[in-house]
Amino acid sequence: MASQYIELMFTGLLQHFGPPLRGLPSQCAVCHAWDWQRLCADCITRYVAPCPRCERCAIEVPIGVRTCGACLKQPPPFEHALAAVDYKYPWDGLITALKFHAGLDLATVLAQRVIEAYGKGELPRPGWLLPVPLSAQRLRERGYNQAWELARRVAPALGCTTHPRWLLRVKDSPQQLSLPLAQRAANVRGAFAVAPRRADELREQTVAVLDDVMTSGATAAEIARTLLGAGAKSVQVWVVARTPRITDL
Ligand SMILES: [Zn+2]
Ligand SMILES: [Zn+2]
Repeated sequence: MASQYIELMFTGLLQHFGPPLRGLPSQCAVCHAWDWQRLCADCITRYVAPCPRCERCAIEVPIGVRTCGACLKQPPPFEHALAAVDYKYPWDGLITALKFHAGLDLATVLAQRVIEAYGKGELPRPGWLLPVPLSAQRLRERGYNQAWELARRVAPALGCTTHPRWLLRVKDSPQQLSLPLAQRAANVRGAFAVAPRRADELREQTVAVLDDVMTSGATAAEIARTLLGAGAKSVQVWVVARTPRITDL
């Protein structure tokens, strides 16, 4: 009874004062247990199931397979892809909260999954880690770029250089999620550019592009073509979550 009362009082205090202060426990975003992080250790163990992934596009593959059939047939312009988890429960809900409901306090736990996934793999370390940019209009509407919120947490942990405006979105196109897969490549064609002042430094760089989710890979492919066209040595694509193939979310 007493502990229930303390818990209620604590919840009230947190609600009153907004997001938890550093050093205070908060409720796990998935199971609601009290923990020092927004995602408790039990949920991380339960829902981060390492699986073999295609080294080119990060889709799940059978054990022993390095590259999926689709990438063997038509290799993407990016050299490697890294995905921490599949886009399914609970990650789909956490990413949606990060993206559309200002769940910025989730950026740290999602970024941590990317850092761990990189640590378990064997990818060459990129010099630059750049967030997939939003258009100026969408950035104004949302108030933040979720990919930058991830990048600014992941980059320092891995010793990469990052910046929110070195990769630019120069064309506002309808959101990929609203389009059928077949139209997505055309929708983002010519949508990205490298900040002109950084073009010289880009040469000879290995660049990783970071986003929350990869679905068709059309955005990632267009960015990779843009970076390679501007002189980057090679491009990787890093995401928190990868959707299974042939989905039309
Ligand atoms: Zn939990
Ligand atoms: Zn693949």
